[in-house]
Amino acid sequence: IVATDLDGKVTHWNRHAETLYGLPRAEALGRQISDLGVRPQESTLAEVITEGAGARTRWEGELAFQHRDGAVIPLHATAAPILNSRGAPVGLVRVAVDITERKAMEARLEHQATHDPLTGLPNRTMFAYRLQHALAQGRSQDIVAVLFLDLDDFKIVNDGLGHAAGDALLVMVGERLRGAVRPGDLVARLGGDEFTVLLEGLASPDEAIAHAQRLVEELTAPFALPGREVMVTVSIGIAVAGDGGSGDLLRRADIAMYEAKRDGKARWALFGGDAETRAAERLLLEGELRRALAEGQLRVVYQPIIDLATDRINEVEALVRWEHPRRGLLPAGEFVPLAEETGLIVPLGKWVLAEACGQARAWQDGRPLSERIAVAVNFSARHFREPGLVDSVASLLSQIGLDPGCLKVEITERVALDDAEETTAALRGLKALGVGLVVDDFGTGYSGLSSLKRTPIDTVKIDQVFVAGLGHGNDDEAIVHAVVALARALGLATTAEGVETAAQLDLVRALGCDHAQGYYVAGPLTAAKVEPLLVAAPRSSDGDSHDHRGSTFPAHPQPADTGLRRRS
Ligand code: C2E
Ligand code: MG
Ligand code: MG
Repeated sequence: IVATDLDGKVTHWNRHAETLYGLPRAEALGRQISDLGVRPQESTLAEVITEGAGARTRWEGELAFQHRDGAVIPLHATAAPILNSRGAPVGLVRVAVDITERKAMEARLEHQATHDPLTGLPNRTMFAYRLQHALAQGRSQDIVAVLFLDLDDFKIVNDGLGHAAGDALLVMVGERLRGAVRPGDLVARLGGDEFTVLLEGLASPDEAIAHAQRLVEELTAPFALPGREVMVTVSIGIAVAGDGGSGDLLRRADIAMYEAKRDGKARWALFGGDAETRAAERLLLEGELRRALAEGQLRVVYQPIIDLATDRINEVEALVRWEHPRRGLLPAGEFVPLAEETGLIVPLGKWVLAEACGQARAWQDGRPLSERIAVAVNFSARHFREPGLVDSVASLLSQIGLDPGCLKVEITERVALDDAEETTAALRGLKALGVGLVVDDFGTGYSGLSSLKRTPIDTVKIDQVFVAGLGHGNDDEAIVHAVVALARALGLATTAEGVETAAQLDLVRALGCDHAQGYYVAGPLTAAKVEPLLVAAPRSSDGDSHDHRGSTFPAHPQPADTGLRRRS
């Protein structure tokens, strides 16, 4: 608290003023206030106070004061005239409070509101603000572009190696991106594994493409997480400012990013007419898929799996198909990914499970225990996040009256390695019911076979890419051999997927696989068409098998003929 007379001479200088201004009371009293602080901030304050006296008004505001030691201290100050008993001004009192802490807090809050806590990068709010600003400011010849980045298969790292590893990876990706852009470019994290880059002052759209290409390349170098190296790739959507608003630019870049994913990931795509059309198609497809579920347009086909020890088919894999009213029969690959993204996979999977179990029950009737047909059903990671999964499978089995040993559940490596409590509990629960557990597409994900030891699986399905490579003098034979040997050591059975030729069948047999599945044995078929194959088949695979009962093996080398109606 400091007071002066009307001439500006200091009449009061309290203890806090001594500390705040770094001047003892004795030195201040009687001096001209404008002389006390030589620094500009001090004189500003003094002027305000003098003005305040002249105007006989109260003044309030924030000021910066430079302390003798050089520090600039933000102050909140009020100045008011001192009036005598007749109401005439005789001086001026000023109260100033040091607001350094409040200022710091405000800055922190502002930082929090505009930055991502994990990576420290600007967040969506900040990005939107800067984008809007760039579009408003940009001179017409300068091009503004937005890059929308999404890591490919980040979920594999996150689910497989744990969230701490996932977080560490995101931080490193953020740092690498920041290091790879020009100094003025804004790198933001929108959330999850999505990042954006704002590029301003470009001379042409080609420059935006060059930047995106560089980022795609930068991210291909491995990331050294504590204890292990991880590789990730990125898909980038590019949108260059046209006449749309800022929200539009971000949305367009997002759409283009989906294009990059669709085209095979680890690449960029530029927003254009095609991308927009396809985004609209996706939306349409989602609506149609909802209707397909409700209106019963889905079908289940069954692909035989041959037991290589007996050459009998006592197992089939249930695969979903969609009899689309306009587009004809759609394979799983055309709509299962969309169903997984939208969550529609949950009702879809339930339907497939019930349908396949019902079919297995029909095959169970009249067959001796040793000839029962097992049905393998694909479960998505999403299913394992549904509460009560084990209970619902158990009640379905008892409702239908199906021997649990006739059901196998195919899961991805990701699910098998997920250490989330619910997932491991669900896997153990299914196992306890007597349901078989199969790891599908083995070898394409992140797991080593030994890490599967802690999951209660029975069978490993060797991915078709390895089978496809057999006999071509590459590593695939060694890989299949190693997987079979390891699986044996762990007490697991193996199935070779995607067997398309007699030579491949011979090779997987020679390499010690227990089962084989693929177009050479038979493609996916309707229940009615698969039925005649579900009997003992001859041992030889030379096709000379007419004299055996039900022996149509190799049954349907023609994969397209599922027995379902095909529309064009
Ligand atoms: P998957 O479980 O690995 O199924 C094998 C896929 O390979 C099937 O494709 C099958 O038709 C195809 N295939 C079979 N034999 C051969 C062969 O010899 N050569 C080649 N190149 N391919 C062969 P489909 O039916 O299109 O299914 C694709 C994927 O979609 C499946 O891969 C599975 O992951 C998923 N899927 C299928 N049905 C369902 C379902 O009901 N629920 C869930 N969650 N996913 C499903
Ligand atoms: Mg499968
Ligand atoms: Mg598979």
